[in-house]
Amino acid sequence: METKRYAVASEESLMRIFTVPEAPGSTLARIEREISSNLAGFLNENIAAIEKPLHEIEKDFQLAQIPEEPTFVSDHAQQIMEQLVAHSVHTAAPSFIGHMTSALPHFVLPLSKLMVGLNQNLVKIETSKAFTPLERQVLGMMHHLVYGQNEGFYQKWMHSAKNALGAFCSGGTVANISALWIARNRLLKADGDFNGIASDGLIAAMLHYGYKGLAVLVSERGHYSLGKAADVLGIGRKNFVAIETDENNKVNVAAMRLKAQELAAKGIKVMAIVGVAGTTETGNIDPLNDMADLAQELNCHFHIDAAWGGATLLSNNSRYLLAGVERADSITIDAHKQMYVPMGAGIVLFKDPEASNAIEHHAEYILRKGSKDLGSHTLEGSRPGMAMLVHACLNVISRKGYEMLIDKSLKKARYFADLIKADPDFELISEPELCLLTYRYVPAKIQALLKTADEETRMDIYIALNRFTASMQKRQRESGRSFVSRTRLTPVQYQKLPTVVFRVVLANPLTSEDILQSILAEQKELAQTDPIFKKYLQKYLD
Ligand SMILES: *Cc1c(COP(=O)(O)O)cnc(C)c1O
Repeated sequence: METKRYAVASEESLMRIFTVPEAPGSTLARIEREISSNLAGFLNENIAAIEKPLHEIEKDFQLAQIPEEPTFVSDHAQQIMEQLVAHSVHTAAPSFIGHMTSALPHFVLPLSKLMVGLNQNLVKIETSKAFTPLERQVLGMMHHLVYGQNEGFYQKWMHSAKNALGAFCSGGTVANISALWIARNRLLKADGDFNGIASDGLIAAMLHYGYKGLAVLVSERGHYSLGKAADVLGIGRKNFVAIETDENNKVNVAAMRLKAQELAAKGIKVMAIVGVAGTTETGNIDPLNDMADLAQELNCHFHIDAAWGGATLLSNNSRYLLAGVERADSITIDAHKQMYVPMGAGIVLFKDPEASNAIEHHAEYILRKGSKDLGSHTLEGSRPGMAMLVHACLNVISRKGYEMLIDKSLKKARYFADLIKADPDFELISEPELCLLTYRYVPAKIQALLKTADEETRMDIYIALNRFTASMQKRQRESGRSFVSRTRLTPVQYQKLPTVVFRVVLANPLTSEDILQSILAEQKELAQTDPIFKKYLQKYLD
């Protein structure tokens, strides 16, 4: 093995690290060019290298001691190219259709560099200046997208020091926690000699209001981040109640109403109901208008988790899918999903600009009362200027551009669903409502057998199919040509039996119809050589 060379830790070399590379011919400028071209090479490479097993990769990351001596930047850059970049996942490749991360518009790369270079901290205006009004404007635009208030409303509230139309955060998880935090604090507000839950805590709040507990109701397809929210907010995961869904994976609102009544009889107050607009597993949208009615009846907070599907509102042709969205008290939208912004761009919006006062906090040296500091209404503290990238995408792509991208994704998903349905050896499990669908490979003969065989044989086949689907998904990923993800559903059409399925998200604008055809062809091929199939399912074909 080559012996590693070390630089010398000196004040002089440290100063060099912190200064701008002076000449275009400088070492740092050269490294920067190399990194850029390597990245471009990586991004243009559609076919991944054969996957290196994780335990092999781990060998490069063994040392627990912080290096005693400095490494030259050029050596380090070389090292990460080999050890890190080469084994990264091609999330931007058009044949990688398994996740919610997609190709990024290229202009966000240089802009990200600007963002990192300026290193503004959005927690307070002293460290962000123009970034704060920019972020407030982006929140205003997103608020307008959802709630469509008039110009006077935005004139009044967008830059108001005392309020916030929403909050930027790292992602949908923190956005959901923030929304339910506000719901909790508004419900358990100060009253008489009780100073409110934020001051006196959950136990005093329960005693004061005479509740035995709090509950949050959501569809069984709700995202796991909501369970985390119930945990950190002291509501308890047990009181985060999953309500059954219908055959289209939409929550059964009548069942939700019954559950609320049942809880009320036990002295448990429903603090909020959550509608999912674009479930993570199947992309379906809950009946938002019916849920808004229910929230009104129950006099509780109505939150919509549109982390993934919220971007659909940008298309005037598809917006109707989220009918009733404007009746939500709060809504989560991840710009880093279907808005093509790099990760770390979560957004929560509040219908009522005064809602966030329920979590307002101040500190003397920072976040002074009356300042326009965004940090006085956010869960997170120090935050980067990600809003700048959302702002850039909204301007460069524009509402009309997003509309084209979103409509195209929906069309592509329907095309893929049609391909699956046209092939007798595939089975579409969930129809795409947005650009997400699930399916599996089941040879026609086995599909027929599933309908006619006795109970024992059926269960035997069903269990084998689940193992086979998982095996196929893993083998396809490892072959490196394409990637679909997998999840486990309980489809109504299969008596709610746990069913392992392929899951695809068709948001990448570069994914073509040809690629979709070849992904199915590849799966048919993989099925012929699958060891699980041979062992447990082949006998049903012979
Ligand atoms: C992705 C997602 C989340 C979580 O968002 P993160 O950005 O991963 O924290 C929450 N809800 C839904 C519906 C999602 O799709």
